[in-house]
Amino acid sequence: MAQATYHFPRGFLWGTATAAYQVEGGNTNSTWYAWEEQPGRILNGDRAGLACDWWNGRWREDLRRAADTGQNAHRFSIEWSRIQPAPDRWEEEALDRYLEMLRYMEELGLMPMVTLHHFSDPLWLKDKGGWVSPTVVGYFDAFVKRVVDTLKDYVSLWCTINEPNVFAVMAFMDGVFPPGEKSLSRFYRVCLNLVRAHTAAYRTIHAIQPEARVGLAINYRSMVPARPWFPPDRWITQLQSGVFNDLFPLAAKDGWVRLPLLRRRVPEAKGTQDYIGINYYTRDQVKFSPLRPGEIFSRRFFREDAILSHTGFIANEPEGMWDALKWANRFNLPILVSENGVEDPEDRLRPRYLAEHLHQVWRAANFNWPVKGYFHWTLVDNFEWERGWSQRFGLWELDVETQGRRKRPSADFFAEICRENGISAEMLARYAPEAFEKIFPN
Ligand code: BGC
Repeated sequence: MAQATYHFPRGFLWGTATAAYQVEGGNTNSTWYAWEEQPGRILNGDRAGLACDWWNGRWREDLRRAADTGQNAHRFSIEWSRIQPAPDRWEEEALDRYLEMLRYMEELGLMPMVTLHHFSDPLWLKDKGGWVSPTVVGYFDAFVKRVVDTLKDYVSLWCTINEPNVFAVMAFMDGVFPPGEKSLSRFYRVCLNLVRAHTAAYRTIHAIQPEARVGLAINYRSMVPARPWFPPDRWITQLQSGVFNDLFPLAAKDGWVRLPLLRRRVPEAKGTQDYIGINYYTRDQVKFSPLRPGEIFSRRFFREDAILSHTGFIANEPEGMWDALKWANRFNLPILVSENGVEDPEDRLRPRYLAEHLHQVWRAANFNWPVKGYFHWTLVDNFEWERGWSQRFGLWELDVETQGRRKRPSADFFAEICRENGISAEMLARYAPEAFEKIFPN
């Protein structure tokens, strides 16, 4: 057996990522709470309920699990609706709770990466026009200022908005996230407001904390033409990837928002990212399909022989991680893999998925591309938005009824990787023998 180890750069960040609404529970002031109450919005009528019960304090035991298994960083988000439950009400107590979490993370040796918007808004924002109205920029900025003023002694790595691309598409094109709209013109306005809100937040954070590192986390979807020899497939793939993957980071690079048939300059957005955050999960084959205007004249599907996750949501396509890193490297900024993972209640695919994706991350680091860390999605099974509890992404399994946790084998595998700061052939033989030949070929 090969006796090699793929080592990662010194100081590499190893952690998991979580999001407030998905783990905290009992969050009645969020747009998602109201959304859950509408019949048919969440698969199987699921409710977040207590989620992982973090708001009552279970963050403590879960963060300890993370630290005890070799992780040295953790990405989590602050819930706007907790800090500002009404336009004129600020909850100091909620901020204190996040401070307490941060103090504990410091004790545990977990470096925090803090996200300021992860899909969830305060209910009152809806009455002010939500993300369609330009007033959102000022509201979001005031919230950001409050948070950063309070947490600045503990946090210097900030993510302004998680996956603005997914948020805009799901909430304003597909209509499966609140407010559930399907309107191209609103989608365009929301994209512009997201760019402006990120920009304002970037400047506000730097004004308070000049040394901060601030960026966005983009959901990078690898897309390849289904029939590479067929020009319309190549064209539609490029168009889709351009809107979905490039729009936000390019706007933050040069101040131009490029939407199909509309280019708008937001000059103040230029140069507003200190790193590139990529959330990578899977890759699509894209086919030109003139009869599907609603899906921008395309059909997207997984490769026929790809291995699929439990509910068929994710295809195991590690080469797409390579695409994502190659794409990110074009920005000449430090790169963070801010999410990557797979839904897999039985932990059948996860060890292999983890190994094969990390192998691609290692390849990029080995090319001296500035990859600084990897955050696995996620620590403990959580509430998966419109898919409810049907998908299990955790290194730990959660019994939603009893709040009991059970470690999956992947948690031990990930722990060994974090401690070694690398993946060895020996580890792979134990945890993911099916990936061995590919990663350590003879
Ligand atoms: C989101 C997470 C989500 C994960 C898995 C990402 O797009 O940022 O909130 O849970 O995908 O569905």
